[in-house]
This record gives sequence, structure tokens and C-alpha cells, in this order.
Amino acid sequence: MTDAQKQTTLEVAEEAREKEWKHPSFLGSLFLGRVRWDMVHPYPEQDDQDRRKGDEICGKVGTFLKAHLDPDEVDRTGEIPKNVIEGLAKLGCFGMKIPAEYGGLHLSQTNYNRAIHLVASYCGSTAVWLSAHQSIGAPQPIMLFGTEEQKKKYLPRFARGAISAFALTEPNVGSDPATMTTTAVPNDDGSSYTLNGEKLWCTNGPVADVIVVMAQTPPKIVKGREKKQITAFIVETNSPGVKTTHRCQFMGLHGIQNGLIRFQNVKVPKENILLGLGQGLKLALVTLNTGRLTMPAAATAGGKWCLAVTRKWANERVQWGAPIGHHEAIGSKIAQMASTIFAMDSVTWLSAAFADKKNVDIRLEAAAAKLFCTEATWRIVDGTVQIRGGRGYETADSLRGRGEEGIPVERVMRDARINTIIEGTSQIMRLFIAREALDPHARQIFPLLSRHVSFPKKLQLIASLIFYYAGWYPSLWIGRPFQESAKGMPRALKHHVGFVNRMSRRLARDLFHAMMLYQQKLEKKQRLLGRVVNIGTDLFAMAASCSHAALLVKKNPADQSAVELADLFCRDARKRVLGHFKTLFKNHDAYADRVARRTLEGKYTWLENDIIPPH
Ligand SMILES: Cc1cc2nc3c(=O)[nH]c(=O)nc-3n(C[C@H](O)[C@H](O)[C@H](O)COP(=O)(O)OP(=O)(O)OC[C@H]3O[C@@H](n4cnc5c(N)ncnc54)[C@H](O)[C@@H]3O)c2cc1C
Repeated sequence: MTDAQKQTTLEVAEEAREKEWKHPSFLGSLFLGRVRWDMVHPYPEQDDQDRRKGDEICGKVGTFLKAHLDPDEVDRTGEIPKNVIEGLAKLGCFGMKIPAEYGGLHLSQTNYNRAIHLVASYCGSTAVWLSAHQSIGAPQPIMLFGTEEQKKKYLPRFARGAISAFALTEPNVGSDPATMTTTAVPNDDGSSYTLNGEKLWCTNGPVADVIVVMAQTPPKIVKGREKKQITAFIVETNSPGVKTTHRCQFMGLHGIQNGLIRFQNVKVPKENILLGLGQGLKLALVTLNTGRLTMPAAATAGGKWCLAVTRKWANERVQWGAPIGHHEAIGSKIAQMASTIFAMDSVTWLSAAFADKKNVDIRLEAAAAKLFCTEATWRIVDGTVQIRGGRGYETADSLRGRGEEGIPVERVMRDARINTIIEGTSQIMRLFIAREALDPHARQIFPLLSRHVSFPKKLQLIASLIFYYAGWYPSLWIGRPFQESAKGMPRALKHHVGFVNRMSRRLARDLFHAMMLYQQKLEKKQRLLGRVVNIGTDLFAMAASCSHAALLVKKNPADQSAVELADLFCRDARKRVLGHFKTLFKNHDAYADRVARRTLEGKYTWLENDIIPPH
């Protein structure tokens, strides 16, 4: 890719970013040194009516799945039985968030996440069917951006069980969708477009009735320069020219329907454009902002399932004269698992509550929740395999075959691995969060460095910059009244509240220093930014855990278990946070970079000796 092409790609991605912050963001403030405890504490509680609605659907879905679905059979055959999909559709599971006026269940984000959390704890493939359809598939962008005609036409169909998919990825286009090559060219009479291209790994694609497809439409000329346009289309899969050319098979999630979908001269009416010409990437990114909230819900469910397996096994299995859970090396893993799951739960339901409030900007929290919960689940699953020993590696069928309980830890590990890759990889989540964390500074400082800004304008900018930073920067060195933020917190957690406040200010200072030091080059410092994001994410999880524990203890003062879990999570998180600060500026990143480059250049190929090469 030439430098000019790289620049165009970055511009397209930047253009698609949501630039406005219409509502407050907990993490956005935290990166600026201000912890908005008022947003997380008291921890939001589901109101009774909403909870009952959630209990009802979760009860029905749980009973139905246990009676009709065998997840190991799904894994073995690669199919979810038709009667299960039809049964779920009858329960309204394909229209969970769709408003009642269009025939849906109109669940809140919290209840929708509860349903996915429940399904994911039983069968990962089934959870992905439901989630790909309505977290990112057609209902979500149509609800967010569709015209009234589009809503009336499609939402009732989905509520009755029609299936949808979301097609962004292409064989050569993954994390960087701005470079996509699928095209949609307007036809002569202007009433339709002709779609050509290939979309890869489209979940539900092979069985979908409708797919939201992102494609390049003709560029716009802005100030004499061509500007790339990406547009979202609602595509009916029964249109001539739509074909699944390959059903993809994966390490896990054997029951999902995922394919390479070819669009060959597919005619799409112009009424099927979603949000408007050139708005496709923005639509995809905004859809994913809320859509990815189901990932932490599903991941947390996987973690809880692992804890249940581990707890039983670590009590039952006796080695060296004691249950393995009593050996310190295993016990410490279990303690960390339990406290991390409490933090994951706290983050998951706090983020869902933020989404339901509708007056909170959730893009950073959703990304941080996805990053935190999916990475934690992977560690938890790995720990579960280790604690189950050989049985963790053995398939459920094999365990059953020799007379033991068929606990499918092996399948759950295979199913869970994808979570840190789909809907934004962990690396991309870190870059996304870092970009948004830097945004308030970038807006102030970057125009000063630009060649396109006139000198008088720069003087004006410098004046407003001095005014802003003269107020903000000194405040990062001065503590705020601690009592206020710690009000209502259990005594054992109060010092963690103080830590979050102090570290938030330190983070804001260091981020500002990094910005001044590296300026525009900072975006290339991925390891530094990664540490910044890891600190912010841990502080967010600490705040959520403390406030969640405070709520649980308030409701049942006799039970302090939530405080114990939050306290242990925070103690571990503090160590991580301090470790990241320590290496923020003093590290050997440059040296590791050099080794990486030399590895890529083939300087160490002698290390790959004495093997049968993969390629
Ligand atoms: C089971 C499954 C289901 C899927 N479902 C869908 C779907 O329904 N719809 C859809 O459109 N797509 C879907 N995808 C695609 C998925 O979203 C992509 O796999 C994901 O976006 C990553 O793209 P990629 O695999 O091409 O990896 P790449 O983008 O090629 O990345 C490879 C690696 O490089 C890293 N990387 C990339 N860019 C950077 C960077 N700038 N800085 C640092 N690291 C970087 C990534 O984090 C990753 O580790 C699915 C994929 C799978 C496997």
C-alpha cells in the first residue's frame, strides 16, 4: 500500500468515527483525571418490572434449551436442529430488542444481555446465532438508522423469525474495513445499485434471509479530491446473484452457519440504503458500539460455567492426600477466577445499564467491557483446563465413553477462543479506546501542528489552549474530596476508591505528557497506549466492582462475600495498574521492536531448525 493509499484509508476511518460526545462517558472522564462516581455509584439496579420481564424470557428459553438442545450434539454434527431454531423463533428470540409495535419482545439491553448470557452458558453456537442476528445483524442498524418504511417492512419479519447477518469483512479486509473492495454501482435510471464482491466469515450468512452489506459506492469529489464512500445496503438473500460459495468450519462454535458469500451483479433497490450514501462505515461502527455489549455478557457466562466446574472438581479430586483446591497453587487460581468473575459481572451489567439509560455515551465502556471480559474469560477457561488436568483436555464424548461425567471443558475452550477476535480484536479495541481517550487533547493540540491552519488562527488556538490547560493540568496534582466518592462504600473497599481517584489523575497526567512528548507519533506507540488502556480498563472494573459490592452488601448486610471478591479483585488490579505505570515510559519497547523487525526480516530463521515446516 502506498503512503497516499494509507492516508486515504486513515481518513475514511477517521471520517466514520463518531466525533460528538453528546452524553457523558465514565471512561472518557476517567482518562481526563476525573472519576465520575456519580455515574457508577450507587450501582444501577434493574427495576422490578424490567427484571420480571427478563426473568420470564430467561425462564422460558432455559427450559426450552434444556429440553430440546444437546450442545455436544451440535458440536459433533455442526448443526443446530431446525426445531430448536423454530422453537426459539416462537419464543420471540429473533426479535428480542425489536419494539412491541413491530411485533418484537422489546427487551431492554439488560434483559437482552441476560438472555444471551443464559444461552451462552449452555451452547456457544446458539448464542452466536442469536447475537449475530440481532446484536450486529439487520435489526440493530434498522432500529438505529432505518426509515419508517424500512422498519415496517423488516422488523416484523425478524420478530417472526427471519434471520439476518452483517457483512463487513472480506478476504483481504479485516480490522481495517475502509479498504474494502465490494462495490455497489448505481444503475442508469438511479433506482437501484449493482452489487459485486465477496464477504468472508459472515455469521448466519448461509441461512440468512437478509444481510446488511457494506460496499463502496462511487467516490465523492470534495475540494478537488476523491473521497471514498462506503454505503450500507439491506440485501435480500433470495435476490439473483447472492450465493454462499463456502461454509466455513472453525476450531469451535461448530454449530454456527458462517460463510463466504458472493454477490455477483446483485440488483439492490436504492430504498435499501441504510442511513445514507457514504454512511456505511459509520453505521457499522455505531452498530458495533452497542452490538458488542453482548460479548461481555456471553464471555461472563462462560466464566461462570467454568467456575462451577472448577469448584466441584477442586473439591472432589484428591491428590497427595488433599482435595486439589486445597493446594495453594490451585487455590490461588480459583480465588482469582472467582474475584475476576465478580468484576466481569459488575462491568457487564453496569455497561448494559448505561446502554438502557440512553443518557450515557457507552462507546468506551462497551469496548472496555468487551476487551476486559473476553480476555479474562480466556484466562479462566485456560485455568479450568489446567485444574481439570487430563480431563480438561479430553472430549466430553470420550469422558462419557469411559464412564465419567461428560463435562465439555475442551469444547468450551474451543468455543471461547474466538471472543477476543470477533467484533473488534483486543488489539483494535485498545487502539479504539486509546484514540478516544486522546481525543480531547488531539482536538486542542493537533490543529497547532497542522500546516493547513493559518498563523492568526494558531495564535487564537494557543490562547484557548493556555486557558484550558491552566485550569485542568494543576487540578491533576490536587486530590478531590475523597469522602464524597467513597460515600456508601463498604469500609474494606474505601481505600480502593481513593486509589482509583489517584490513579485516574496520574493516568491523565501521563497521557498528557505522552501526547506532548510524542505528538502525532503517539498513535504508533501501541505498547504505551496499550498500557494506558489496560490501566483505564482495570480502574473501570475496580470502580464497577466496588460499587456493585456496595449494593449487594447494602441489600444483605449479613453477607460480606461480595466485598471479599471485590477486595481481592482490586488488590490484584492495583498490582497490574502500578506495573503498567512503572513501564509506561521506562521500558525496552524499542529494543523489542528491533527484535520484532529482525524476526520478520528472517534474521533468526536458524531458530526454526529441525522441524517439518508448515508452509
Ligand atoms: C467465527 C467468526 C465469525 C465472524 N463473524 C463476522 C460477521 O458476522 N461479519 C463480519 O463482517 N465479520 C465477521 N468475522 C470477521 C471478524 O470480525 C474478523 O476476523 C476480525 O475483524 C479481524 O479481522 P481479521 O481476522 O481479518 O484479522 P486482521 O485484521 O488481519 O488482523 C490479524 C491480527 O493483526 C492484528 N491487527 C490488525 N490491525 C492491527 C493494527 N493496526 N495494530 C495492531 N494490531 C493489528 C489483529 O488484532 C489480529 O491479531 C468473523 C470471524 C470469525 C472467525
